[in-house]
Amino acid sequence: MLKVVKFGGSSLASGENFAKVKNIINADKSRAVVVVSAPGKRFSGDTKVTDLLYILHAHIKYNAPFDDVFEKVAERYKEIAASCSLKQDIDSELNTIKANLNKKTSVDYIVSRGEYLNAKLMAEYLGFTFVDSADWLIFDYNGKVNFDNSYENLAAIVAKNKKIVVPGFYGSMPDGSVKTFSRGGSDITGAIAAAAIDADMYENWTDVSGIMAVDPRIVANPRPIEKVTFAELRELSYMGAEVLHEETVFPVRSKNIPLYIKNTNDMTAPGTLVMESFDETEAEKKSHFITGISGKKHYSIITIAKNRMNEELGYIRKTLEVFEKLGISIEHIPSSIDSFSIIVASADIEPHLHELITRINEKVAPDSIKIANDISLIAIVGRKLASNIGISGKIFTALGNNDINIRVIEQGADELNIIVGVDDKDYSKTIKVLYNLSEVEE
Ligand code: ASP
Repeated sequence: MLKVVKFGGSSLASGENFAKVKNIINADKSRAVVVVSAPGKRFSGDTKVTDLLYILHAHIKYNAPFDDVFEKVAERYKEIAASCSLKQDIDSELNTIKANLNKKTSVDYIVSRGEYLNAKLMAEYLGFTFVDSADWLIFDYNGKVNFDNSYENLAAIVAKNKKIVVPGFYGSMPDGSVKTFSRGGSDITGAIAAAAIDADMYENWTDVSGIMAVDPRIVANPRPIEKVTFAELRELSYMGAEVLHEETVFPVRSKNIPLYIKNTNDMTAPGTLVMESFDETEAEKKSHFITGISGKKHYSIITIAKNRMNEELGYIRKTLEVFEKLGISIEHIPSSIDSFSIIVASADIEPHLHELITRINEKVAPDSIKIANDISLIAIVGRKLASNIGISGKIFTALGNNDINIRVIEQGADELNIIVGVDDKDYSKTIKVLYNLSEVEE
């Protein structure tokens, strides 16, 4: 058994957190490859080291004195080193970094130092070997990860060093320069590491007990999702659930490696297990037919009507081409015989509205174009929706009983989710009603 374990910034913010991490690693000998983020916030109002490093870069870029910001970063590491009684010469590491700072230093190099230094400290603390991610995680010139090379590199390293700590968030370009992922990218590093060594599990340790069935800002103390498939997770995150960096899933899914989201502050909490599929008993199939609910506000519905539209071949395609040419991505296209609607994020059409309407008129000459704004889309996601009959009925009855006007209904043929469109003003209420429904139906 071999596990890759990634710890997020809030799990590594202080010496006290480092101790919790060590406990977790020591509790299971198969936790052999450890991926770390930079130190996060220790308390509300604190600043993440990565944010400090972006600020540091801005100071250098605009010729502002940067000693104070650098010192703030340095203090974070010194504090951890002191509280964990580490022996390494952290001052010389910091001096080397400081000596490298000038107007030409890339932002990627600067911000990557957050993970680099934390991995150095964690490696000593655990007694594991430090492996710089610039030495194995390789990007191509187009900025995409070179998976084959990266997998080969890490597999060779792990064959020699059984227990390692690697910094998350960055790798290197073919010319050796440092390149980072977008924010939150240490999740991806962990997934790539797991895929590289064909790990049996990728554990992602964070500060919550897994993914919640619904946004806790809308429903207090919601149920954590114990099991979710990769496909469900994709639906939930696409529709707004903030879980992992969205590129995390691909490397582990392609190698069928289970992903386990766990809480550093509550080791024994069940967390959330993500897999391709689950063997479930009949009783399990009946409980929690909704895996989770997520949603986003601020969509627009553009409804295009033309008498006898159904007789005009290619009418919808021609209309969609207008959106495509303007670079507007489309979410859904509910249709009827002589009209159809196009649902898009309002922010995407706002800059092009005039142009869009003019071009649609020119291209397909509809009888009318109507636009409704302030629409929320809410996704009810569940692999069990397909095997439980009557769920849509229950959903629509519950919404109707609560005076919620459903503006749009969509269900994919794979029955993995049902999307309802409601007015933005009904957003939270709709999510609450749907969540309560899924809890009552146990
Ligand atoms: N430290 C980086 C960030 O704050 C990357 C990460 O934590 O995943 O975005």
